[in-house]
Amino acid sequence: MMEKDAVAAAHAHRVAKISRAVRTFYDQKVPFRIYHGSSNSTRAAARQDVVDISGLNHVIAVDANRKTALVEPGVAMDELIKHLLAYNLMPAVVPEFPGITAGGAFAGTAAESSSFRYGYFDKTVSNVEMILGNGDVVRASPTKNSDLYYGSAGALGTLGITTQLEIQLVECSPYVQVTYIPVTSHAEALEHFAQVKSDVDFIDAIMFSSRHGVVVEGRLTVSQTKNHPIVRFTRAKDPWFFTHVHSKIRCSAFSDSDNDYRCLTCHWTSRSRTYRQTSTVLIELIPITDFVFRYDRGVFWMAAHGWAPTLWNRITRYVFDPIWRTRFQYRVVHLVGGTPHIIQDLAIPAPNASPFLDSLHREFKIYPLWLCPIRHDPDTPMHSASTAPIPAPSFHVNIGVWGSPEYGTQFLTSSTFDAFVASNRRIERMVAGAGGLKWLYASNYYTEEEFWNVYDRAGYEMLREKWSADRLPDLWAKVRRSRQDLRGVTVGGILKATVYAALGVDRLIK
Ligand SMILES: Cc1cc2nc3c(=O)[nH]c(=O)nc-3n(C[C@H](O)[C@H](O)[C@H](O)COP(=O)(O)OP(=O)(O)OC[C@H]3O[C@@H](n4cnc5c(N)ncnc54)[C@H](O)[C@@H]3O)c2cc1C
Repeated sequence: MMEKDAVAAAHAHRVAKISRAVRTFYDQKVPFRIYHGSSNSTRAAARQDVVDISGLNHVIAVDANRKTALVEPGVAMDELIKHLLAYNLMPAVVPEFPGITAGGAFAGTAAESSSFRYGYFDKTVSNVEMILGNGDVVRASPTKNSDLYYGSAGALGTLGITTQLEIQLVECSPYVQVTYIPVTSHAEALEHFAQVKSDVDFIDAIMFSSRHGVVVEGRLTVSQTKNHPIVRFTRAKDPWFFTHVHSKIRCSAFSDSDNDYRCLTCHWTSRSRTYRQTSTVLIELIPITDFVFRYDRGVFWMAAHGWAPTLWNRITRYVFDPIWRTRFQYRVVHLVGGTPHIIQDLAIPAPNASPFLDSLHREFKIYPLWLCPIRHDPDTPMHSASTAPIPAPSFHVNIGVWGSPEYGTQFLTSSTFDAFVASNRRIERMVAGAGGLKWLYASNYYTEEEFWNVYDRAGYEMLREKWSADRLPDLWAKVRRSRQDLRGVTVGGILKATVYAALGVDRLIK
């Protein structure tokens, strides 16, 4: 009990200190931003007049009976999982990268393959403590200050600083039994999402081309059986998850296939004896930590871009493993100021997902694509587009559009700058037309008018006024992108940033 009180008192002390710093900015009428020590956002960030909350990174308490964890916002997913496994518990939604923080997942937008059941990460947060823009400390939940609670989810910290979150947990198991289901179209994958069985705990899919994909179903399981091999994805010698999934299908080669269904992953793996072979094993066991962070190495597949197949093999993957993990890759992105590829996460209402994917294929041919169903959330303004269909569907499809048009060939260079911006803007318009939303961690190319056509400006501004948020940057100020930012994204710039990142430089560290 004494120890618990001491932990709570230390938290209160840290919060009081930050509250005083915020009040000073408020009294001096100076706008400020927050610094929380890391970021998985890929858009550029401003760095002046900052309130440092990086010390808020402790797990305060775990209540095994209520299945809740009280955490500070800077706790990263890998630390949280490590802490909770001792209780045989885990968050109901574990965002895919180990460095994503509880606060960033709440204030940003985060989801993963259990979101078909639980929704976005913020839906698993039952209450939050916040410091408002005037320094006051308040609590918000669905029953107390509910407008602040719902309004803050996904609002990028523009209504206040989250200082503590209560996260709902679920029972955990040592393994996830994974079933790989080959599909021949995105429509078939979407059908699986619509008819997901009740004993499934996780579901997502990778489309490797317009005709080759795999739906991945996961079930928490306690027992090992001789019939199913155990595979891992977190060690340097392990395969990257997406290439492992690719080995579950018979796919045509990149170069000699019809332009309509080329597979970039076939190209990347063309020199790898292991990955060229088709595996007939369609059920495997994955240890829980390896499962929840299965996409960390290689940042799904983004880190494979730019490597010639001859240089991308078991040995180079082993030797360069540290630079292919998400924490390192994000440091490079922050140093460069962007990426040469289109990086957009989209949430499209389920009934519109298939036509949307048809158009995406026709116009862009970006593969692989990540598909993940997310239970619809009618309460959170930042998760509902003004253009959303009525009645709302039961789920949205998260589409991870991470790559470059025409099977990875049309990436950003100094000569393709305008085309790159135009492609991003085209995707934004397609998303708005489909009644969907972009996740705002990525770069945005909207005009201010286009942006506020998607989000409820009047409702948002009322919240800002009511909760004294005027010294905090507003949504548009945070997400707008200066085209100038992208000029530094060159091959030389990326190589230089990789060396700097390897030397420990991080643009976010003061
Ligand atoms: C290729 C790729 C794939 C991705 N796949 C996934 C995926 O599968 N699942 C997923 O969830 N995400 C995914 N992401 C998105 C990314 O990881 C999200 O941006 C992430 O949810 C943000 O977490 P973070 O802790 O790094 O927060 P940050 O990016 O640092 O913060 C997000 C926002 O919240 C604000 N904020 C942070 N902490 C606080 C606080 N305490 N109080 C107030 N405001 C705060 C920040 O200022 C910022 O505006 C992907 C990104 C890429 C590039």
